[in-house]
Amino acid sequence: MLKSLSTNAATICALVLGIISSGVYFALDVHYTPEVIVGVLYTTVVLFGLLARARRMVLAFACTSTVLIALGWLLNPALDDTAVGLINRALALFVIWAIAGMAYHYLNVQQELEAALRHLAESDPLTQILNRVGIMTELSRRYAEFQRYGSVFSVLMVDVDHFKSINDRLGHLAGDHVLRRVAGIIRSALREVDSVGRYGGEEFLVVLPGTRIDSAINTAERIRVAIEQIPIRVEREQIRVTVSIGAMAAAPGGPANLEALIDGADRAMYDAKHSGRNRVMPPPRPVTPLRAAPVARVVP
Ligand code: GH3
Ligand code: MG
Ligand code: MG
Repeated sequence: MLKSLSTNAATICALVLGIISSGVYFALDVHYTPEVIVGVLYTTVVLFGLLARARRMVLAFACTSTVLIALGWLLNPALDDTAVGLINRALALFVIWAIAGMAYHYLNVQQELEAALRHLAESDPLTQILNRVGIMTELSRRYAEFQRYGSVFSVLMVDVDHFKSINDRLGHLAGDHVLRRVAGIIRSALREVDSVGRYGGEEFLVVLPGTRIDSAINTAERIRVAIEQIPIRVEREQIRVTVSIGAMAAAPGGPANLEALIDGADRAMYDAKHSGRNRVMPPPRPVTPLRAAPVARVVP
């Protein structure tokens, strides 16, 4: 929120500065200063696009400067109608476009770097799906949309059953391989708009936008069956793993906040564990508040 406010402020600031300085430079060009100084001054307008970190603004200011330099030449033939004047203006345009090109390239590289950094910060190196930060960012975004527009969505908490025994029996590397395969199977059972992230060691959190609890349970069942049926090759062995899944929806009358939503899915997952594992459980029933004992009415 604060970041987008400061970005907007920088954009507005750059736009206002760009427009005012273009006007001032144009007035100087037409009435007083030699064109070469004005040409160099126009480069500052292009740099305001850098301040806003907006590639389009860099290009727009470079185009505006070009037009104004041409107009200045047309409106003020007395000052520079010589070949030197023309050469000066051509040189000024060269400098402006060279700086605009560099600024544009710099902003491109910066955007790519930011995307790469975000990817690094939000992805799990073992499974290549989102990590806890990444999936929580997605979840918070969906929850904010739910609060603002009432867009219903569901979450699934998926936990591999008896995973510790896989590690103990086949080794940690085999366990890692199982986690990678399980993550891949979950991802391929989901739609493009859905997200999955590694919430903890062998726990995965799935976010299903626009999905009510019934459909979420169907999706969870599809994931459960796929994992149960696909054998995972570990060294020379084929093993089968199962998962327990808890489902919870963010819907009207549902959880009061994000923590309650995750807690609901977590408790449903533990219900699935306690009911025998390898199953999907709906949200736990809300605890019915204890009713106060009826107060005996005294009849006068
Ligand atoms: P349950 O069916 O009740 O879920 O039992 P479980 O054995 O799956 O759960 P438990 O919490 O007892 O054990 C989880 C194990 O997951 C313990 C931990 O060593 C292992 N683990 C956590 N992260 C990783 C990892 O990145 N790689 C591997 N190989 N193992 C991990
Ligand atoms: Mg487990
Ligand atoms: Mg666990």
